[in-house]
Amino acid sequence: MIENFYDVIVVGGGPAGSMAAYAAAKKGVSVLMLEKDKEIGVPVRCAEAVGKEGIENILDDPPDPRWIDAIIRQFKFNAPDGGSFFPTLPGTGYVLNRKIFDFDLAMRAAGVGAQVVTRAYVKGLIKDNGAVKGVHCVIDKKEHSINSRVVIAADGVESRVARWAGLNTTTRLRDMETCCQYTLAGIGTPADVCEFYFNQQEIPGGYAWLFPKGEGIANVGLGIAGNFSRHKAAEARLQEFVAKRFPKASILYKTIGGVPCANRIEKISADGILVAGDAALQGNPLTGGGITTGMVGGKTAGRVAAEAVQTGDCSSTFLHKYEKEWDKRAGKAQQRYYKIKESVKKLTNDDLNAAAAKISALPPNKQTLLRIFQTLLRHQPSIIVEVLKAFRPFA
Ligand SMILES: Cc1cc2nc3c(=O)[nH]c(=O)nc-3n(C[C@H](O)[C@H](O)[C@H](O)COP(=O)(O)OP(=O)(O)OC[C@H]3O[C@@H](n4cnc5c(N)ncnc54)[C@H](O)[C@@H]3O)c2cc1C
Repeated sequence: MIENFYDVIVVGGGPAGSMAAYAAAKKGVSVLMLEKDKEIGVPVRCAEAVGKEGIENILDDPPDPRWIDAIIRQFKFNAPDGGSFFPTLPGTGYVLNRKIFDFDLAMRAAGVGAQVVTRAYVKGLIKDNGAVKGVHCVIDKKEHSINSRVVIAADGVESRVARWAGLNTTTRLRDMETCCQYTLAGIGTPADVCEFYFNQQEIPGGYAWLFPKGEGIANVGLGIAGNFSRHKAAEARLQEFVAKRFPKASILYKTIGGVPCANRIEKISADGILVAGDAALQGNPLTGGGITTGMVGGKTAGRVAAEAVQTGDCSSTFLHKYEKEWDKRAGKAQQRYYKIKESVKKLTNDDLNAAAAKISALPPNKQTLLRIFQTLLRHQPSIIVEVLKAFRPFA
């Protein structure tokens, strides 16, 4: 039964939305989470890799083993000329099963009292004097207008909710990666190694990945900076990549999607609204990873929304607290990663080959992320300070 008022309405049932709904409901306010798809977690548009520590720091409970398809103990970096090395990993990684993971996150939100509704498409906002006061939506083909104190826009990379609220959500084409991915079977790669391939001609402004999912299955995909896709689409590039390296593999699943590699949108809060996850462009601009950062954004947004409701002040002045907390926890790091990404994009294949040759000659314990980026960017000294700040903790 849908009520006509909730303290907090969350739009989108991805990791950011479910964390927002969980954090708000846990603080005792009424929460409605609306997801347009008929099932949470489907379709999967993701390579599903996360750092173990990142996930564990956000969740109150340890990760459920059912969420994890593969435990990653090594990375392999592949240079354009075929040279490769295995950097020292700062910790363990997971390749998730996002169907189960996303579903369980929503279930956890429901478990603490949030009402989760699927096949619920939000098509507009209720506004009063510019302040957001609820949503217009269609649930199972029936129109509803539902009022709220705070709306949390967690509607992903194609977000429209923030724009309806008057926030500027535009991104430069070059900061939006166009990605294509196949889930391949029968490729016989190690089950605990994530591979990255760099080649500025074949994969300009991005990289290709191979993330194992166990039993000879892996997510194999690539992302290129959006401004290069008019020369050749990501899918055509992936077909060539796969034909060259895995000619006998079977394609079990295909997906395409955009990945923001930007700084967050200018404003992630306004009167009666907060924006979280991909909708706020909160992903890591260097890697494109947005699961963990989206969960951080969602969790912070949910908590601040509940505090606003409990304080009786849902104005932009109070909600700005979310913006400050996000910047302190992850926004500053995001700016740093963005600058490093911009520098990495300037590297040529010759630079990448030379750096790979240098790094692979180092003893394994010296092949740290810090050393790798210092070597890669040694000709751009102005960025080294950012590299030190970003990667010294992983040295
Ligand atoms: C090919 C590819 C590979 C990737 N690989 C990785 C990876 O390995 N690691 C990583 O960390 N990140 C990866 N990402 C990024 C990651 O998938 C996203 O950053 C993450 O899903 C963001 O979570 P979110 O909750 O913000 O958005 P989403 O997961 O996109 O969830 C948004 C939800 O909102 C719903 N929605 C949208 N509009 C409406 C509406 N109007 N009404 C109701 N519901 C609505 C959508 O249906 C969706 O379920 C990848 C992305 C792609 C495309």
